[in-house]
Amino acid sequence: MEITIDLAGAPILVTGNDVAARHAVRRYRAAGAHVRTVDCPAHFNTSVLDEVVLVAAVDDGDNWAPLRSACRLHGVLVVTETAALPGRHVTLVGGGPGPVDLLTERARAALKQADIVYYDRLGPLDGLESLAPGATLVDVGKAPGHHKIAQGEIEALMVAAAHSGMRVVRLKGGDPFVFGRGGEEMAACAGANIPVTVVPGISSAISVPGAAGIPVTHRGISHLFTVVSGHAPLTDAELRGLATMGGTIVVLMGVGTLPQLAAGLQRAGLDPTTPAAVIERGFRPGQRTTVATVGTITAATTLCANPAVVVIGDVVGVGTRAGRQSMVDALAADLLEP
Ligand code: SAH
Repeated sequence: MEITIDLAGAPILVTGNDVAARHAVRRYRAAGAHVRTVDCPAHFNTSVLDEVVLVAAVDDGDNWAPLRSACRLHGVLVVTETAALPGRHVTLVGGGPGPVDLLTERARAALKQADIVYYDRLGPLDGLESLAPGATLVDVGKAPGHHKIAQGEIEALMVAAAHSGMRVVRLKGGDPFVFGRGGEEMAACAGANIPVTVVPGISSAISVPGAAGIPVTHRGISHLFTVVSGHAPLTDAELRGLATMGGTIVVLMGVGTLPQLAAGLQRAGLDPTTPAAVIERGFRPGQRTTVATVGTITAATTLCANPAVVVIGDVVGVGTRAGRQSMVDALAADLLEP
């Protein structure tokens, strides 16, 4: 059952110790209530019940049973609130490839417990306010002038917030440890003696090809896949390795360097007729798949833009066989339409 109450100007009482009650206090204040607090049962005086319309009883482990019976006698409503976890902690959360329903349960729980969330543009952003109702949300993907905040600065912000007693969530797109600089953030926290928990996320490296109907492995076609960053051009040795190893090549951040990659792989001996695909905006409105070969992919994708995942290998043909490609994309488009 859900009951909606307008709390603007309403006098309410939040019970529970300061740490456990901090989210409840913030949320009720944000809803416009006049919040009074009592931090332990010994400090509770029944006379306060004549002055409040609601008690938010935070489940902090203390014995608040006498307060509950007093509320019953006074006809004051009691809402039970879960205790906020202690602060001075960082959770690196993988947010998946974009849609909020691809967040894990554990990611949701971490967001719910956060005092502050540092997020950037590739994570799930819709409804972040309701996923992290007790938290301040900080966009570190771009500063006011649309310049990215430097990595060192993000780490310093996270560490400082945790030191001040907050429970910090660093929300990242996909998985935090796949080209997400999660390792650096973990090291920064460890260096500052801040405990860190990692919540894995669904990486775009596997899920975005999947959204376009391309399996990264397929029995009899590919039994290995390599995930590469296209951020900087690959060395000749890397190109040779990729071209001769067989299996699927998945490239993230690779649209800008795709011409060098395609040319380099051919120079290194990869058959130019090898299928290649670029999947843009996976799981988002406007998801688009362009299919070509390593020899033609550069010309075919001149209008493609990040975020996109490049897939090279015979698995691309598995997805496109018998028009299955367009079917899958149409299905994805349908799912995106509310
Ligand atoms: N940690 C992330 C990757 C970060 S690098 C993960 O595990 O998914 C950012 C790159 O990820 C983008 O340049 C793009 O190549 C890819 N990417 C992330 N989300 C995507 C999406 N919804 N559609 C297509 N590519 C995506």
